[in-house]
Amino acid sequence: MKTYKVVELLGDGISPELSQSVHAIAEILPCRIEFVPVDLSLEHRTQRGLPLYDEAEALMRLHKVALKYPTATKNESPNAILRDRCEFSVIHRPVCSIPGIRTNFTQKLDIDVVRIGTGGTYEDAGRRIGPDTAVSLRVIERTPARHASRFAFKLAMLRHGGVVSTSKYTIQAQTDGLFEEVAGHVAEDYPGIPYRRELFDSLLANLIMKPEKYQVIVCPNEYGDFLSDMACGLIGSVGLGDSSNYSFDDDGAITLAMFDPAGGTAPDIAGKDLCNPFAALFAFSSLLRHVGEVDAAKALKSSVLDAVSSGEKTADIGGRLKCSEFVTAVTARMRSALASV
Ligand code: ATP
Repeated sequence: MKTYKVVELLGDGISPELSQSVHAIAEILPCRIEFVPVDLSLEHRTQRGLPLYDEAEALMRLHKVALKYPTATKNESPNAILRDRCEFSVIHRPVCSIPGIRTNFTQKLDIDVVRIGTGGTYEDAGRRIGPDTAVSLRVIERTPARHASRFAFKLAMLRHGGVVSTSKYTIQAQTDGLFEEVAGHVAEDYPGIPYRRELFDSLLANLIMKPEKYQVIVCPNEYGDFLSDMACGLIGSVGLGDSSNYSFDDDGAITLAMFDPAGGTAPDIAGKDLCNPFAALFAFSSLLRHVGEVDAAKALKSSVLDAVSSGEKTADIGGRLKCSEFVTAVTARMRSALASV
């Protein structure tokens, strides 16, 4: 049986319940997952300080794959610290319609938002020039733009879809222009994959009117941030998704990947077996796909979706199940899905 070591970054609030849910799934997989835990809870961070992040970073670089649960943000943001230290330059956010979740938007959506995870306007808070004017620096760099574009095309190849690169390249001619130039060059390496470029404002309207025309969307940092949340709104929840963060070597190969569920620590329901592990299980599915356990990844995702669409769901999305009961519903489906592979 193949064994994978996965660094498990434990956090606060519902984090232990999410971790238990993931472990329950790991136990029935056709491979062995050896979890290497790092306690990033607020209490432990307060006790240990920066050396704790040194340890987390070293283990992540050693094992190359990590699963992170929600952490309370008090003095510092563990997400921001890990992103900086591990040099995550690409963020992937899959967003697909979930049968069984009530939404305002009734069409089917199934997109992968791939964004440059660094730069844009996010690394400079800006400065005031006199009392009534403020400016900030916007950074677009060729290397992360290339990593994001390559990641997008590889993903499109896997899902037999096309790629759209999007930005405001007519207005931000230099910065977004550079991003689009890079995306266009990468597209030339993938002649079999449909590719087009769209202005970000028109993409937002078109995505809502004709969602079937979009599969993989690649863009600079801020646009990807806005787009991911809007897309989650369309499928009825910002809390049900997962995201993946990647860093790369000079040759463009992925050196480190971290998967995490959307959503916070939910302290109000922590420890009551009430939380929804949906996003954590989706994050685990993305991790399995990344390490090459594609059948297990698909089985997990479809089992989660099937449980929810059959009405076996937790209270936050209109069901009656406790967290552990939902996990039992998913594992039952997974066993039969894996048996038929
Ligand atoms: P944080 O400071 O970590 O963001 P928060 O409580 O302010 O914590 P969320 O964790 O996003 O913000 O929670 C917002 C609401 O959504 C809470 O009522 C919480 O119980 C609920 N919630 C969040 N995550 C889940 C989950 N996985 N399952 C069920 N309910 C959840």
